Amino acid sequence: LLRSLRSKTAHIQLGRLCYSSSSVPTTKLFIDGKFVDSNTSEWLDIHNPATNEVTSVLSRQQVFLRYQQIIKDNIKELAKVITLEQGKTLADAEGDVYRGLQVVEHACSITSLMLGETLPSITKDMDTYTYRLPIGVCAGIAPFNFPAMIPLWMFPMGMVCGNTYLMKPSERVPGCTMLLAKMIQDAGAPDGTLNIIHGQHAAVNFICEHPAIKAISFVGSNQAGEYIYEKGSKNGKRVQSNMGAKNHGVVMPDANKENTLNQLVGAAFGAAGQRCMALSTAIFVGESREWLPELVQRSKSLRVNAGDQPGADVGPLISPDARNRVESLIQSGVDEGAKLLLDGRNVKVKGYENGNFVGPTILSNVTPDMTCYKEEIFGPVLVVLEADNLDEAISLINNNQYGNGTAIFTTNGATARKYTHEVDVGQIGVNVPIPVPLPMFSFTGSRGSFRGDTNFYGKQGIQFYTQIKTVTSQWKAEDATVTTPAVTMPT
Ligand code: NAD
Repeated sequence: LLRSLRSKTAHIQLGRLCYSSSSVPTTKLFIDGKFVDSNTSEWLDIHNPATNEVTSVLSRQQVFLRYQQIIKDNIKELAKVITLEQGKTLADAEGDVYRGLQVVEHACSITSLMLGETLPSITKDMDTYTYRLPIGVCAGIAPFNFPAMIPLWMFPMGMVCGNTYLMKPSERVPGCTMLLAKMIQDAGAPDGTLNIIHGQHAAVNFICEHPAIKAISFVGSNQAGEYIYEKGSKNGKRVQSNMGAKNHGVVMPDANKENTLNQLVGAAFGAAGQRCMALSTAIFVGESREWLPELVQRSKSLRVNAGDQPGADVGPLISPDARNRVESLIQSGVDEGAKLLLDGRNVKVKGYENGNFVGPTILSNVTPDMTCYKEEIFGPVLVVLEADNLDEAISLINNNQYGNGTAIFTTNGATARKYTHEVDVGQIGVNVPIPVPLPMFSFTGSRGSFRGDTNFYGKQGIQFYTQIKTVTSQWKAEDATVTTPAVTMPT
């Protein structure tokens, strides 16, 4: 694979920030007193015949124990690169690194996570046990919105299980992944265990087609995710594909008003709405609709500015195209009959007149047939629907194509219980606006937000990056030797 990376991906655009270059040593020729490179295109891989292994689980654990410390020591440096390339505020960028760091910390418990299972005495003198083993070369394809967290969902989990990894960061934010690569090299990961390529279609097709790659982790839009899931699966690879979202926050009239409105504003407009778990849709149930003017007031108070400016709450969108798209979806809402309670278009940011800024925007009176409801906006736009009761709210959500995340705000335990049992969404917050599970659990988006059958990180992440070998062994005493062939199926 590494050799073909050098030749076949020569046409793929390389990132600007190149901190590390991994290389596989090749055996040179010795001619006329000089060591010279061969011109051959055929190479034989050399393994240690004693083990056929590259690393042990204990040495991998040591690498990740060092890696988590290096990341911790460099959170601010990583955050600066994120803000420079992605635009989010520095405080939010530190959160991006921190949530990825938690996955690396979790990876350090690999000695427990990789344990197999044992069942002794399945029948007389017979025991069955399993080994959990790596699957080979794995690959990750990441989106632009979490330049640290999402690559860190991918290659640390893949590598700590004993696989080598090929990472393709988003072409829009390559810098953070390059820094993370330098750091894992400093932590002692052997050359060739993490490899990085850049680009878009050509790099993605290379990953989906190369026979050495056994598994692909993808996070991004449905358009790319469905393509990669289909192409990768067709080529015999495991694929886990986390995709788009339309996350609903249900506001019950009995909710703690202060708490709820602040959480809703933070979760709708934080990171300029460019989070797959942003609460981009609110359903106000019954009398809670009277809180709308206050919601608008609080949203207006957020400061729109460049991410590295002190006090900035909402940074720019990733590109002029993204801003145009978001603005046209706002206009579609107006044209289709929604009420524009707060308009963030044409926001002016002093000193950053050419930036891709859109301020907090709220559309109310939205109905499920409107484009602004059907499409993922991925910007600082909250669309507001109303429902007369909880059943109506649940039905709206269950009829939406996506199933990534949702939240309910209530002080009633029975209401919360009914909601968590009946809503068909993979990740649910009760008075928690962005319920991204910590890495001892898994990220469990569902329906239109996910393809595959094994989720990211947690126990499911370990499953995704490993395969099981099951051994059934029998050690009989001498006097119990089988004396005639058994031709029936053993039971
Ligand atoms: P994107 O799909 O444009 O890009 C993701 C990756 O796919 C990139 O590496 C890109 O190079 C590649 N890619 C893009 N278009 C491609 C194509 N046509 N063919 C092949 N490869 C292609 O996504 P994005 O704009 O970077 O990220 C935003 C999207 O990601 C949103 O939809 C958001 O909801 C989603 N997202 C989902 C999660 C989740 O866990 N469910 C998390 C973060 C982001």
